[in-house]
Amino acid sequence: MSRNSNDQSERLQLTLLDDSLDLLLSAAEAVSRDDGPRSLKEAVLHLGNGVELLVKARIAREHWSLIFADVDKASRDKLDAGDFASVDAPRALNRLEQIVGVPIGGRWNTHLKSLRQQRNRLTHFTATLDTAQTKSLVAKVMAFCVSFCEQQGMATARADDKLSAIHKNLTPLQEFVDHRIQNISANWKDALLWVCPECWQPALVIDGGEVDCKFCKRKADPLELAAVNAEGSIEDCPECDVEQTFVYILRHNGAWEWLCFSCGQGGAGKNYDHCMRCGRMDYAHDDNDGIQVCEECQTYIIERW
Ligand SMILES: [Zn+2]
Ligand SMILES: [Zn+2]
Ligand SMILES: [Zn+2]
Repeated sequence: MSRNSNDQSERLQLTLLDDSLDLLLSAAEAVSRDDGPRSLKEAVLHLGNGVELLVKARIAREHWSLIFADVDKASRDKLDAGDFASVDAPRALNRLEQIVGVPIGGRWNTHLKSLRQQRNRLTHFTATLDTAQTKSLVAKVMAFCVSFCEQQGMATARADDKLSAIHKNLTPLQEFVDHRIQNISANWKDALLWVCPECWQPALVIDGGEVDCKFCKRKADPLELAAVNAEGSIEDCPECDVEQTFVYILRHNGAWEWLCFSCGQGGAGKNYDHCMRCGRMDYAHDDNDGIQVCEECQTYIIERW
């Protein structure tokens, strides 16, 4: 009997999608139950697995062989028997982007990576989670998955019931998150708020040295934040003199700015550049010849005259 490859891919997609949505729903139920660390841990584990299965469901729709770790070793017999190693999450995302042609986007890639790390920490070590952080993660990942299903035309009749159950669970979570975020942005309206790598909320207050999240209370390392967010070179901050925290980045409004992940200074309207004499970052002092030197070098040059 010959089997149609398209049918096989379609069937596999539906199975994986079904499993994925079950896991997401379990995550939402666990976090709503909130009966201590165990339910929070359960929520993050389900969430991590659920989002990975969703990505696999989408690449399976393209072709069933894409969920094999080694596509060269893919066979229908192995697929039917469930006898194969399946592709890991980073490579599944890569196939989604490179083969299926669905770009996830830099921000989501970072989020999904941090979720994976969190899940791995929970699997292998004892890590601590708090309710706010887990609620935020569940709300964010579920919203991502729901819109991914819709955008990719995966919201079939069979998946619809589960998606609507997810929507029902999402509303109270989203309300909890929105309420907290409103308070935080009102209390910290003058500080630089950045997206926290632990809870994914724009609640990381960067205002001089200590960088901590007002949503999930996690502390972040300015050096690490700079390294993760830098698109180009990382410089020493001319505002607070902390080394390797000053980066040139693309903001949400589409503008490129220099920003320090330690003091939160920089930003639009300020012109920074390398000193043409010593190479340090500084304000761009535009003299008549368009030669830019830092204040220290200016003093040095004037004294030498
Ligand atoms: Zn946080
Ligand atoms: Zn600084
Ligand atoms: Zn200089």
